[in-house]
Amino acid sequence: MYLYNSATHKKEELKTHTPGRVEMYTCGPTVYHFAHIGNLRSYIMEDVLEKYLRFAGYDVNRVMNITDVGHLSSDADTGEDKMLKGAKRENKTVMDIAKFYTDAFFDDCRKLNIKTPDVVQPATGCIGEYIKIISKLVDTGYAYLAGGNVYFDSSKLERYYIFNDHDEDDLAVGVREGVEEDSNKRNKNDFVLWFTKSKFEDQALKWDSPWGVGYPGWHIECSGISMKYNGEYLDLHCGGVDNAFPHHTNEIAQSESYLGHPWCPHWFHVHHLNDPAGKMSKSKGEFLTVSLLEEKGYDPLAYRWFCLQSHYRKTLVFSWENLDNAAAAYTKLLNRIAALKPEGDVDAAVFGEYREKFLQQVGNDLNTSMAVTAVFDALKAKTNDATKLAVIGEFDKVLSMSLLEKAAALREKAAQAVQSGGGDYVITGEGDPEIDAKVLARYEAKKAKNFAEADRIRDELKAQGIEVTDVKGGASWKRV
Ligand SMILES: [Zn+2]
Repeated sequence: MYLYNSATHKKEELKTHTPGRVEMYTCGPTVYHFAHIGNLRSYIMEDVLEKYLRFAGYDVNRVMNITDVGHLSSDADTGEDKMLKGAKRENKTVMDIAKFYTDAFFDDCRKLNIKTPDVVQPATGCIGEYIKIISKLVDTGYAYLAGGNVYFDSSKLERYYIFNDHDEDDLAVGVREGVEEDSNKRNKNDFVLWFTKSKFEDQALKWDSPWGVGYPGWHIECSGISMKYNGEYLDLHCGGVDNAFPHHTNEIAQSESYLGHPWCPHWFHVHHLNDPAGKMSKSKGEFLTVSLLEEKGYDPLAYRWFCLQSHYRKTLVFSWENLDNAAAAYTKLLNRIAALKPEGDVDAAVFGEYREKFLQQVGNDLNTSMAVTAVFDALKAKTNDATKLAVIGEFDKVLSMSLLEKAAALREKAAQAVQSGGGDYVITGEGDPEIDAKVLARYEAKKAKNFAEADRIRDELKAQGIEVTDVKGGASWKRV
């Protein structure tokens, strides 16, 4: 697979330490609030990447942390602990907050068909790992004690700015708006490995350490968790582009100083979801969550479809209108798949040809918009319906849009509408499941006020010589 590597700023073939196996790490959520759909965009794209790698025959070990301690409201080690802030806001304990929002995160993931990584590790479960790493960094002179905290000394590195898509000015954390300078730091890019002297006396979670009772900094958790479950050589590290600096930069600094050899050669960063006015933030307008999408009547998978239509390295602009378009396209696709008849034998040659093309296209820097196009191409293929369904089912191993399941449910619903005497919507006609499915899809589209789709289906039926008449409680159709 060819994948853009933010560490080298070019598209490169993914090479792994052990051939055929990918050790993959994903920065997980800080569980102090519901996940914003902008953050979920990263998890959707990482899910597609993992599924693509498996589809391409790799054995994947994917590890993800859950940040339940140590993430301050500024990434520059200042401000309030996000978890503590969440606990205060809701008058609960930090552990209650962590459990509640971890569960909420995985509920969202389930609704978006995001697979749970092989290993999910809360940061509070690996304190011993961080202490082991920090102790060695102190012993070897990469870390120092100041004002009660342990800091990583960035001046000890030959190179620090590994993701130098950033301006030097952006790196001067002290001058950023609303960020206080930590006077204990020897260099502006030093960062905290272990806090003992926090200005927040009420920090709920503390552990014993060689430097006093305290808690770990945010960056060390990903190095510790990855080394524990992925081993010393990580192949692919993923995260949102906002994590590239300082979080990922600091992960590399501490990991390579600890290990004494290169740690992770390939870095995958998913770009932002913006609103038309600029970067989305919680302070501006509605806080967009999966639950809000559901309240507004959207299938969460319509949001997944929306994300798949665009490349992960491009900023994606969210608006309700854009989401409506994606939702309509998804419904239309399901209706078209529902109209396929699962009869006949799969043509193995056609199936193989389509699978190979998909493998090549999507393997070119995770080109998900080509993957979306591939589904429509399969629908138009010169082959029987059984082969089309098999090809679409194969693509959906990567896309995870529940295409066959949802299409089957539509067919089933149409069949029930034909049979039910007293159901909500009764279809009478000449007993053709394909036509029944379309008639029902037209009704569902009208019910959802998607009149363009309803009209499109009516025209399609008309072209097939089918006339639909709306009657009380249903519809009847006949061939004319
Ligand atoms: Zn991380």
